[in-house]
Amino acid sequence: MPHRILLSIAGHGRVATALRTQATARGVVERFVAGETPAQAVAAGSVLVAGRLGVTYNFLGEYQTDPERIERTRNAFIAFTRLLGDSGLGGPQSELSLKLSALGQLHGSDGPARALDHARRICAAATGAGVLVTLDMEDHTTTDSTLEIARELRQDFPATGVAVQAALFRSPADCADLRNTGARVRLVKGAYREPRSVALHRRTEVDRAYVRCLRTLFGGTARPLVATHDPRLIRISAELARRHGRDATTFEHQMLFGVRSAEQRRLAAAGHAVRVYLPFGPDWYGYFTRRLAERPANTVFFLRALAKSGASRRP
Ligand SMILES: Cc1cc2nc3c(=O)[nH]c(=O)nc-3n(C[C@H](O)[C@H](O)[C@H](O)COP(=O)(O)OP(=O)(O)OC[C@H]3O[C@@H](n4cnc5c(N)ncnc54)[C@H](O)[C@@H]3O)c2cc1C
Repeated sequence: MPHRILLSIAGHGRVATALRTQATARGVVERFVAGETPAQAVAAGSVLVAGRLGVTYNFLGEYQTDPERIERTRNAFIAFTRLLGDSGLGGPQSELSLKLSALGQLHGSDGPARALDHARRICAAATGAGVLVTLDMEDHTTTDSTLEIARELRQDFPATGVAVQAALFRSPADCADLRNTGARVRLVKGAYREPRSVALHRRTEVDRAYVRCLRTLFGGTARPLVATHDPRLIRISAELARRHGRDATTFEHQMLFGVRSAEQRRLAAAGHAVRVYLPFGPDWYGYFTRRLAERPANTVFFLRALAKSGASRRP
């Protein structure tokens, strides 16, 4: 139910404005989002790197069809890559996360080809700075095209990663395809509300599917990017690493900025590669509401802050 309430108010520009301006509410946003500007992202990234954590920078923005805005997004990624280099944050400690829909993937029949072209240019700039690139996975209508674009990019930029959502029925087969490619594969549970015809919905089933995908990836040459906060799945990944004789350089843990930060530091101190997914940019609202929707406790906290701000009152 809180999820539904949240989605019903998610489209209100007023709500975003209130969250920006009201101190308590802004605190809720700042827990999950590093800031609106590249400089704020670099500042937050520097702190994480000083704590021996890697960073995935996610310049927020989704579904885009306007060619000029798409070009601006691509150029912003390229400029950000340069900023990372100039700030001493070049190299594989930094990763960019791309949402292909923000690069026009869903705009017309040649959308995927154009998104590939934009992604290629970003990968070229990132490679110049030694920075990694991984493709986010969006809803199931994009899966085929995203996996295909990832495959194309790996030809020229072999370190390009791609996310796979354990909840989708197809994912065990997708992991089997990726298993011996040497690819960096970010395994997530899945953040989108998918129809029952394509995805598992029960938590226990998703967890089982996640373990199945982990087994496949750890058993091959892929580099698993274990993107979960779930303590049980983190333990299972450690067990699989032991079973397959993998040391800590052959896989990594990934978690979201603001979620289980003490666990991130604990894993890093124990010698694991840990990367924090750091979202930033003015378009933070869609990302933010997904994070709230994941946990009832977050939603309640958010609604309280909103009530304090008065944003839910009609003018
Ligand atoms: C690095 C990274 C990249 C991601 N990329 C994608 C992607 O490309 N596509 C996609 O669909 N999804 C992506 N996700 C989101 C993912 O699909 C899940 O929705 C999200 O990670 C929560 O699932 P979980 O595996 O942590 O397990 P859960 O069972 O949801 O959570 C396990 C525990 O983690 C903590 N936790 C989890 N989420 C929150 C939260 N929002 N607030 C507070 N505590 C929380 C709680 O303690 C919870 O009990 C990504 C996640 C990560 C970590």
